[in-house]
Amino acid sequence: MPTSPTSAQQPTGPQRRPAPDADDVRPPAASDPPGRTAAGGRSAAEHRRPAPDRGRSLLGPALELVHTGRAPTRSALTSALDVTRATAGAVTGELESLGLITVDSRPAGGGRGRPSHRLAVNPAGPVVVAAQIHADSLSVALAGLGGRLEEVRYLPLPDATDPARMLRAVAEAGAELARSATRRCLGVGLALPNPVTEPDGTALAALHFAWPSGTPVADLFAEEVQRADFGRRARSPLPSAVANDANLAALAEHRHGAGRDARHLLLVTSGHRGVGGALVIDGRLHTGSAGLALEVGHLTVDPQGRRCVCGNRGCLNAETDPEALFVAAGRTPDPGGPILDQARRLARSAADDAGAADAVAHVVDRLGLGLAGLVNILNPDRIVLSGLHLDLLAAAPERLAAVVADRCLWGRSGRVPIVPAQVDHAGLAGAAELAWQPYLHDPQAVYAGRG
Ligand SMILES: [Zn+2]
Repeated sequence: MPTSPTSAQQPTGPQRRPAPDADDVRPPAASDPPGRTAAGGRSAAEHRRPAPDRGRSLLGPALELVHTGRAPTRSALTSALDVTRATAGAVTGELESLGLITVDSRPAGGGRGRPSHRLAVNPAGPVVVAAQIHADSLSVALAGLGGRLEEVRYLPLPDATDPARMLRAVAEAGAELARSATRRCLGVGLALPNPVTEPDGTALAALHFAWPSGTPVADLFAEEVQRADFGRRARSPLPSAVANDANLAALAEHRHGAGRDARHLLLVTSGHRGVGGALVIDGRLHTGSAGLALEVGHLTVDPQGRRCVCGNRGCLNAETDPEALFVAAGRTPDPGGPILDQARRLARSAADDAGAADAVAHVVDRLGLGLAGLVNILNPDRIVLSGLHLDLLAAAPERLAAVVADRCLWGRSGRVPIVPAQVDHAGLAGAAELAWQPYLHDPQAVYAGRG
């Protein structure tokens, strides 16, 4: 179930701008980044604000190029930004002085000609806390720039009917990680398995948890983050943001995984329960007028199908999630273990297990119907499947492609590539992107809130 963010609204690709003077890259700002309240929770939407930063700087685009691995050298950066070498040198010098990247000018060995400086995210630079609430657990991790998560910790889910209690558990788990870190913590991002409205950051249809519809999750989470002790190295007050997990996963895949360079990226995913989707257009998440676009889980793919949590029958949500695969196989998952892991194993066993193969075929046909409908409406240039859908794709790639092509207006003339997701813990990785977004927008925001 999709929702939210943000950031996403920031252009991620290099934008061609008039080459500024080197001076444009300076003025250290001691203020908060634009678009955020000091301690307030943001729903993703708030920092999407298009920068009134013409000429303000190339720092943000440059940092994003290094962060996403698109500018491993200064010459690559120079060309991606379409600026002079002197300007690129000023930009990288500033990002290095902010502690965000490293610039290595030593010869790479053996090569001829003038070596270009190598750029990388600073391994000792600041971190953010990424967090995710799953249907049956919590996860937290620290993340530096570069799209890599440190060790992921899973915790049990507290009393699900009280949002404040659950959000407190997330904030405290994140705070413990931040206190144990030797690097400065700059923010917290949280992925939720329900839609989150923009710009006010309320949770709608939090069906897994029976939270009241309209629960102000962004504000509640911000309060819990301020209350928790993130340690003396953390920015204070510490910014936080929340968004839907499928949207965040799509953002992570677009920046660091199977969606790189796609212009109209559709992501469809099945986690522990239900199905989510998201669309990234030219580097920006398409979230609709209120953050609620791409609710793909409730597309009907079998009018006589299983009952969905929304009250209808035969939604993609109910027909292609882990439980649906077990029902199709006539088997029962072990209640002691995560159903997603068990369903993924069941799908992978299709090569040697006729019952599993039949169940995979049944679920793949319904997934194909849903994808075909989405392709007809959205005309994506790439579809990334994750969670259980990744294993269904691996088990029956030709069958899935054929169902989509048969039902899709454009199917026979040009098939849409359907590829497996590449980012591990993509919702969590996307939560890290959400927390980093203000700094990708304005790297000088790292000056704010120094203790
Ligand atoms: Zn439904």
